[in-house]
Amino acid sequence: MTKVTSAQRLYFQGLDPEKLAELKHELNIPEGLPHTRNRVQYVQVCPGKNWCTYGIRNTEQIAEALGNLELDGPLPSKVKVGISGCRMCCCESWMRDVGLAAEKNGWRLSFGGNAAGRPRIGDLVADGLNDGEAIDLVKKTLNFYLKTAKYKTRSARFMERFGIEELKKGIGL
Ligand code: SF4
Repeated sequence: MTKVTSAQRLYFQGLDPEKLAELKHELNIPEGLPHTRNRVQYVQVCPGKNWCTYGIRNTEQIAEALGNLELDGPLPSKVKVGISGCRMCCCESWMRDVGLAAEKNGWRLSFGGNAAGRPRIGDLVADGLNDGEAIDLVKKTLNFYLKTAKYKTRSARFMERFGIEELKKGIGL
């Protein structure tokens, strides 16, 4: 089975290891895991302004920048990012650890969302951000989270205990 995941990855299931190695070689996919632990695991991004009638900001560049973001150390737990090119939030930004959604005045950043068994809507960190400000603030937020949260604590549980005001103080807002 081949699946294109919501994080724009190709997922091959059921291939013999030798066939998988051949396929990876043919597609020029490097050996090893795609991410180290000091990066986010998953960036889901909608087509944005370039491809969608409703989009008000481009999404590709910021998605690439966040996917390549090098943090100060390993994250305590899995971090998923959802980037939506307008307020319709097709990438479920409020329900992701890091959510970005485009509004007329810039990016709105939320943190601590989760869509799993204990769903949680993320807290609003800031809005009106340009691309560079949004990337900087995501980096600060994740670096603060990785230095403060206990190992294996997802951002949703961390924010329930810690609270948005403490987070904002910690990242200088
Ligand atoms: S979030 Fe907005 S821009 Fe992105 S796919 Fe949905 S409607 Fe289009």
